[in-house]
Amino acid sequence: MDFEKLIEGYKEDIIKDTQKLVKIKSVQGDKKEGMPFGEGPNKALEYTLNLAERLGFKTENFDGYAGHAEIGEGKEVVGILAHLDVVPEGEGWTYPPYSGEIHDNKIYGRGTIDDKGPAIASLYAMKAIKESNAKLNKKIRIIFGTNEETGWGGINYYLKKVKEPDLAFTPDAEFPVIHGEKGIMIFNLVKEFNKKSTSDIVIKNIKGGNAPNMVPDSCIALLDVKEEKKEYLKTSLDNFIDKTGFKMSLEENNEIKIISKGISAHGSMPESGQNAISQLIKFLATLDLDDSDVSNLINFYEEKIGMEYYGKSIGCGLEDDLSGKLIFNVGVIDLNEDKASISVNIRYPIKYDEEIVYDGMKKELKNLDIEIDELDHMKPIYVEKDHELVKKLMKVYKSVTGDEKSEAITIGGGTYARAMSNAVAFGPLFPGKEELAHQKDEYISIDDLMKCSKIFTKAIYELAK
Ligand SMILES: [Zn+2]
Repeated sequence: MDFEKLIEGYKEDIIKDTQKLVKIKSVQGDKKEGMPFGEGPNKALEYTLNLAERLGFKTENFDGYAGHAEIGEGKEVVGILAHLDVVPEGEGWTYPPYSGEIHDNKIYGRGTIDDKGPAIASLYAMKAIKESNAKLNKKIRIIFGTNEETGWGGINYYLKKVKEPDLAFTPDAEFPVIHGEKGIMIFNLVKEFNKKSTSDIVIKNIKGGNAPNMVPDSCIALLDVKEEKKEYLKTSLDNFIDKTGFKMSLEENNEIKIISKGISAHGSMPESGQNAISQLIKFLATLDLDDSDVSNLINFYEEKIGMEYYGKSIGCGLEDDLSGKLIFNVGVIDLNEDKASISVNIRYPIKYDEEIVYDGMKKELKNLDIEIDELDHMKPIYVEKDHELVKKLMKVYKSVTGDEKSEAITIGGGTYARAMSNAVAFGPLFPGKEELAHQKDEYISIDDLMKCSKIFTKAIYELAK
């Protein structure tokens, strides 16, 4: 079957339909009748289901929460899971974010790579299968979620109505195959301050970071400092900066501000960032403070967290052979004179569970009066490397790209594959390509879009034959 030739024949349509879908601003909006995530996502869902119908597929809309389109017959179902919603465009775009303009053989716009381009590439992959008259034994179903970016309510609603596919891939991450994803926990470390500080340096508040799953690039402490201690504070900071090379500065008005600048990064890769909160706390821990609850918390942070990425000193330094080390990221701090809350995002190795992580930490937190406020948890997912799904997808990926070296990987991030069992992430970003999802100037190159469509066609065929 010459699937690649069929896909080449759809090139103009693949480009045009991607552009049209990008022009629909499908950011989550206010809920309306039949539109649980607002008008934008609903319009994108209707557009895509209409297109699927024109291509000759059977479609169904699940009350605006999600939709699907299918071809073929059989008891078993091969699924493709894509999403049609996007994150807000943000600022600083070179080209309008909802125009789908082409420059330099790249389609620009919010959603081009995440996840509208891959959704269209998958639809045309199904068209190629259909037109080839290839003999299949399974149904092929593409499922369109409408709020992947804002809570997964759409896909969860869908999965209550429809049995999940027997095997599935989601083109919403990167190539080659992601066959395992670490467990993800988000929690706050909370401490109430009873024993207040009376020292010459009083920490009034500390604020830093925007989200638990990001390495914070900024943190500011406001200090009330007695006149005679100001020189000491300035000298201490100068010495600290000399020693560490951290980007920190001091501003003096009525109170003193200590400003710490780090480098932002995704919470699954703290090594590639620089944690502004940890830097600041590390400095505060060098100061001569009295024995108060605030200074006890700072000492705890310095001793048990410090500048570490792997949770070792706080009792959860776990590691396994499938997915490597546990990743520990402090993303947000909010401290005032009454209370402190430190938001942490942990990504733990596949072979462990949430309880082991919490138990390890609780031992280290004993007698410190620090509470753990659990906020969110996603279990690890894992499909064996020699499972049919992984093996077939890897084979197809290698045959189309000629990339013989790449192997199936595990990651610390969470992909849409977690919505189902027996699902893995597969594309659309090729190794070595710049990751522009959720950023300004997001694009998909037309060559990569076409290559995706060819890979998906062969993948679907291999899984469904
Ligand atoms: Zn996505």
